[in-house]
Amino acid sequence: MNRMRMLLIAMSGLLLTMGLVTVFLFQTHPAREDEEVMPTFYQDIIEVDNPDSLDVLVNKNYRLPADYEPSDLVFLDVPLYNKDENNEANYLRKEAAQALKELFEAANDEKGYELIARSGYRSYETQVMLYDRYVKEDGVEVADTYSARPGHSEHQTGLTIDITSDSVHGGLTETFGETDEGKWIADNAHRFGFIVRYPEDRVDETGYQYEPWHLRYVGVETATSIYRDQLILEDYVLNVMKQTSFLWD
Ligand SMILES: [Zn+2]
Repeated sequence: MNRMRMLLIAMSGLLLTMGLVTVFLFQTHPAREDEEVMPTFYQDIIEVDNPDSLDVLVNKNYRLPADYEPSDLVFLDVPLYNKDENNEANYLRKEAAQALKELFEAANDEKGYELIARSGYRSYETQVMLYDRYVKEDGVEVADTYSARPGHSEHQTGLTIDITSDSVHGGLTETFGETDEGKWIADNAHRFGFIVRYPEDRVDETGYQYEPWHLRYVGVETATSIYRDQLILEDYVLNVMKQTSFLWD
């Protein structure tokens, strides 16, 4: 073997290694991208002045007043994961509770699906307790990807519900999105005024993992517009609504 040939072999080995390293870096890139976006969350926080509105925006930059508690919470009349009447998670605001009943009935009538409501209203105090526990377990950075800080949870609006089914053993898991029930929900929830709030392709903007189980009630008109144009609530409130109010002002 001559020297030239050995050099060529060594060089192609080096190129192969560089290629593999590049592929590895690109594969891990999405996770790092999320981290780069995260720090802007929980900065320049605005306290909302319309907590009772159906299109109130609650996220990592828009917060509900700590003392906000909806005045029209009602006990849910749908299959429940935990039937306890004292459990605040079994309550939603009246209009959302009625819409949820209609959504679950349609799933059953049209497809024979049995949906289960797992977690609805959550008070500020409960969120304080939960978030503190998650931070102790996982640290702030990780806890922030799956749990809201107090005042920043949509569940405090009384317009949000986590749902599940027996096909995922009552769990709140990404797999729900792949089940027949989860797919039907993604395509039909808007007919009853609900949106899947944290879609898979907008994680960096919502600041939350894909949550096919977390539904937010916004009313049929808004939900239909969000579904049709593949928006998130941020797009709708901060862009679509602003443009419309500008036209009417
Ligand atoms: Zn939720």
